[in-house]
Amino acid sequence: MFIIINSGSSSLKFKVFDNIEGKTTIAEGLAERIGVDGKVVIKYQGQSITAEIEMKNHEMAVKIILDQLLDLKIIKSYDEIKAIGSRVVHGGEEIKESVIIDEKVKDIIKKSVKLAPLHNPGALVAIQAFENIVPKVLQVASFDTSFHQTIAAEQYLYPVPNNWYEQHQVRKYGFHGISYQYICKYFAEINQKKPQDLNLVICHLGNGSSVCCVKNGKSFDTTMGFTPLDGLMMGTRSGSVDPSIIEYMIKETKQDASKITEMLNKQSGLLGVSEVSSDMRDITIAAEKGDKKAKIALEMYTQRVAQWIVQYLNNLDSKKIDGIIFTAGIGENSHVVRAKIIEKIKLIPLEIDDEKNIAPYSDFKKISKKGSSINIFAFRTDEEKMILNDIKKYTKN
Ligand code: AMP
Repeated sequence: MFIIINSGSSSLKFKVFDNIEGKTTIAEGLAERIGVDGKVVIKYQGQSITAEIEMKNHEMAVKIILDQLLDLKIIKSYDEIKAIGSRVVHGGEEIKESVIIDEKVKDIIKKSVKLAPLHNPGALVAIQAFENIVPKVLQVASFDTSFHQTIAAEQYLYPVPNNWYEQHQVRKYGFHGISYQYICKYFAEINQKKPQDLNLVICHLGNGSSVCCVKNGKSFDTTMGFTPLDGLMMGTRSGSVDPSIIEYMIKETKQDASKITEMLNKQSGLLGVSEVSSDMRDITIAAEKGDKKAKIALEMYTQRVAQWIVQYLNNLDSKKIDGIIFTAGIGENSHVVRAKIIEKIKLIPLEIDDEKNIAPYSDFKKISKKGSSINIFAFRTDEEKMILNDIKKYTKN
């Protein structure tokens, strides 16, 4: 058995696979409200089992999840666990690929806590909890930042005093790397291409949204920056705004910088503009019904993605472009958003096939017409499968 973990600040998602190829998910679940009260939901054999159990911290959550796996006979004993893979948001500059977790790696994750204060602590505690409970089991970490370590200094540096970078690590790190890696791997396999020959613009459009320019198989640039607040407009995040707004709003509202930053993270984006919802489904429905603010939010969102696509295509050799890919919750599911984005790209002759765009699909589909100058795809991402694949490097079965 292989367990894949994705820990948030007060939650812990997990998936259990019976083999390294990940063809079937045996069970999956979520421990949430960690540190508040505690609730565990496990989906297993078509059933959803919910338990309300107090979880003071991530260590208790890990213990409860493992107990539930035993109680439900998903595993007969801890000996059946072959490896555990964890998603870690931030690996700083040092981690460039998935790694076996040892003391040095734990130190790097710890050092990066100040760069990802909401995410790295939960991951670290969960890793430590597994180590305490099943010390002999191999643990591997996959990082959201590592895929972007190929970005060159002229892209990752900000035009600010150099010592902000040299002394304070202020630079673009980029996120959603596990998802981009998955798309690249499977796109290359499906199209029988060498990974190093891939040239793509990938739009990961979910509650958090970013775009990545993949040049010769490597991340050349991405829209998220020092934190996941940068770049595109998102569900509740503003994306890039004039930085002077922060000081101005501090003075206007007499609130401190952390409150304004929190508003940029949690009350902006689709939610802030539409005043309807952060959920793209609600936005499209409200816009269709004529809600003016929802319409503006939808137009803003799609306009910003379109602009980044054009910018990023400009970094690629036009004869070698393999495609534009839409992925994550919105990118995979919203034909309306995909069509609107492509419609807003005027510089390049792109043509969406409306029937293909709307048609149901399983893993991926081409949604462009034959005459489109660049192929366009919708592609379902699977970060857990990518982490499982990362474990494969370090195990025999
Ligand atoms: P993610 O963060 O990748 O889970 O994506 C979450 C986002 O995907 C939310 O904004 C959802 O509204 C959006 N989403 C999921 N399904 C659809 C759909 N059928 N149409 C539009 N948006 C969707």
